[in-house]
Amino acid sequence: MKRNNNLASLWNAHAQKQKAQKVSSSTPNQLIIHDQQVGPEIPCEEEIHETQEMEDQEARPENPSDEEIHEEQETEEGIYDVDRLPHDPGKRIPIIQYSANEQDAVRRGYIAKGPCQPRTYNFPQRQIGGKRRFPVRWFDKYDWLEYSVEKDDAFCFVCYLFADTANYVGGDAFVNSGFRKWNQPAKLDLHVGSITSTHNEALEKFTNFIRPRASIASTYIKHTTEEKVKYKARLTYSIGCLRFLLRQGLSCRGHDESDTSSNMGNFKELQKWLGEMFEDVRKVTGQNAPKNCQMTAHSIQTDIINCCAKETSKLIIEDLRDDYFSILADESSDVYQKEQLALCIRYVDKKGRVTERFLGIVHVQDTTSSTLKDAIVSLLMEHKLTLSKCRGQGYDGASNMKGEINGLKTKIMDESPSAYYIHCFAHQLQLTLVAVAKQNDDCVAFFDCVTNILNVVGISCRKHHMLREAQAQEVLEALEQGEIETGQGLNQEMGLGRPGDTRWGTHYKTISRIIAMYPTLRKVLGKISKDKSQSERIKAQNCLTVIESFDFIFMAHLLLTIFGYTDELCKALQKRDQDIINAIELVEMTKFHLQVLREDNEWETFLKDVTSFCVKHRVKVPDMDGFYVPVGRPKRYFVKVKNLHRFHVEMFLSVIDMQLQELNSRFDNISCLLFYYCSAFLFFPFVIIYFLLTGAGLMKLIQSFLFAWLL
Ligand SMILES: [Zn+2]
Repeated sequence: MKRNNNLASLWNAHAQKQKAQKVSSSTPNQLIIHDQQVGPEIPCEEEIHETQEMEDQEARPENPSDEEIHEEQETEEGIYDVDRLPHDPGKRIPIIQYSANEQDAVRRGYIAKGPCQPRTYNFPQRQIGGKRRFPVRWFDKYDWLEYSVEKDDAFCFVCYLFADTANYVGGDAFVNSGFRKWNQPAKLDLHVGSITSTHNEALEKFTNFIRPRASIASTYIKHTTEEKVKYKARLTYSIGCLRFLLRQGLSCRGHDESDTSSNMGNFKELQKWLGEMFEDVRKVTGQNAPKNCQMTAHSIQTDIINCCAKETSKLIIEDLRDDYFSILADESSDVYQKEQLALCIRYVDKKGRVTERFLGIVHVQDTTSSTLKDAIVSLLMEHKLTLSKCRGQGYDGASNMKGEINGLKTKIMDESPSAYYIHCFAHQLQLTLVAVAKQNDDCVAFFDCVTNILNVVGISCRKHHMLREAQAQEVLEALEQGEIETGQGLNQEMGLGRPGDTRWGTHYKTISRIIAMYPTLRKVLGKISKDKSQSERIKAQNCLTVIESFDFIFMAHLLLTIFGYTDELCKALQKRDQDIINAIELVEMTKFHLQVLREDNEWETFLKDVTSFCVKHRVKVPDMDGFYVPVGRPKRYFVKVKNLHRFHVEMFLSVIDMQLQELNSRFDNISCLLFYYCSAFLFFPFVIIYFLLTGAGLMKLIQSFLFAWLL
């Protein structure tokens, strides 16, 4: 499906980004910290080493004076992934339990995620001085407040990050076990306490942490405004270059990024080019930048990339506000064949347009339904979304997750009953084609033969004489534009891990090309049949025998006709602005056409077409009253029948029936009904107006309403 392709490319681009993120621990705040640290580092390096102790090591940019340190930092960063920190406060481990070197990185990670405030969650009721649930308005009043979906408890974000636990001698619910007394709002103010309270102390630490400018340590550092300006300019250029690369989905790094390298990778080359072109850029980058403030280190690149990702998702969430949305999920394994779950949301934006946006990728250990659901919930939670606002779900029914989809579907519907599952129509159509092509013996034999032809023609062009090569190349190119799998070579292993079940539209192209290039194809195969290489020769001869048969031509024409109808439907379904009611009508229309095709006069026309094609290309047309003799397949597997019966009933009707049956079974389910409901609902106001205007009775109104719903 076209739209899926677009999404897939998005996902791929983001998968790369995500991989880059794994070695980093960056946040937007970190950027601010750079701002503070890098600037001052230039004038007086010695001072910094002293003051640096209390600040985070990892946030520092590359220190070129000793490469080892930088490398050490990178491996340290790689130990754990800040992106995988549990967002739910009930699942977190105390900051103190992280190693001393990691604590600040973890804090920064949590600050970037922000307090866990799932405002749209359906908070459960509990017996707390009468039936009560968590009051959402508390989030507005106390920005430090967090809610754990896991435990149904409230926590303090600031105290979790910075409070000195030794101060809570008696224990504080907001820090330890969680607070659940929804009937006692005064406790929240009590937790904040006086100006010297532990919470306020933690808050001060928090403020200093996110604004190091305010910390006493940094005020000691002297630096010139000029350096600051230059630093900002450098950072801006780095961000600009990275944004360009991200938008184009290009890689940032090169194999050899040293100064002597002839190709330093996209990022550095782009920045170099920019410097060569513009005086302003040259003045502050490359040779003219201090060696410890180049703004090109890998860690800085990943930081900036992360910031871009965060800013982008922030905008998406702002656009969505607290509104309803649907989720679209698909598995996408990365180059290491690791299962990843890519999640997109679909919603109506502020301007009333239906929008689909990529939200992120989560790594999943396995593809069981509960793991998938947890992954989806946690990813949504990171963006302060919950399933309670989910009004639809869509998955790729042909994927590796196929078996688990039903489980996942039910699990999500348990939580949000209105999250209807709707299978993509274009996808479903593809599946009908797959079913037909794989279940019908004649179709399987036909496609096997097509694959063989492609292989024979494909191999010859690598090995043989120039003349034939050119001719074969022409055929091959024409055939391969349809991109049918050839079943040979490494290409299939790499590019097509799974058989292209979802790309069956391309088979239509292949068949139509075979028919269009039939004489050339025969000529090329004929030449290969006289070849010196024995294996080639035999294969080509076998292929030639098959394609010169009436069976092959008959089947090619039949599939071309059937796939022709479905191809039209497929194209119509893939249109971005396709109306769902219209789509259902199109499906019905395709069914109707196929039904018509079954009729006798259609069969006669079809047979006439095939016969005239055979006559034109001098292929022997069997006598319809004679007995059937199979070509290229053993006789003993066929019941002795007349040609007319074989071609009309066993091939023509059975393939059409199978396609019809598949269409009926796959498109006649709850999703169709749901769409009828929707349409009935849409037109309901007009129905009322009609009845009011015509003065029809109330009973009639109700009757018609019921009728629309039962449709
Ligand atoms: Zn607190």
